[in-house]
Amino acid sequence: MALLITDECINCDVCEPECPNGAIFQGGEIYEINPDLCTECKGHYEVSQCLEVCPVDCIIVDPDHVETEEELLAKYERITSETS
Ligand code: SF4
Ligand code: SF4
Repeated sequence: MALLITDECINCDVCEPECPNGAIFQGGEIYEINPDLCTECKGHYEVSQCLEVCPVDCIIVDPDHVETEEELLAKYERITSETS
């Protein structure tokens, strides 16, 4: 699953630079995650980096973007091949 930032986000800016896929961006009111780029950090890290650093725990798994580990790794392969 891609992850989702809820409206409890306090715009602290901590998560954005931690994302290895550049999936986090400043939205209209709070930070947002591009589900096309979020791999749950699969391929890069064992744990989701944004979840690790968010001080208010406002990041959840996105129920509208359910993906298997294989799909997440395929997304990782696509992203890294596009950017390298
Ligand atoms: Fe980025 Fe990883 Fe968070 Fe997804 S889980 S938004 S890839 S830091
Ligand atoms: Fe929002 Fe959490 Fe990211 Fe801070 S770390 S900008 S509170 S989602």
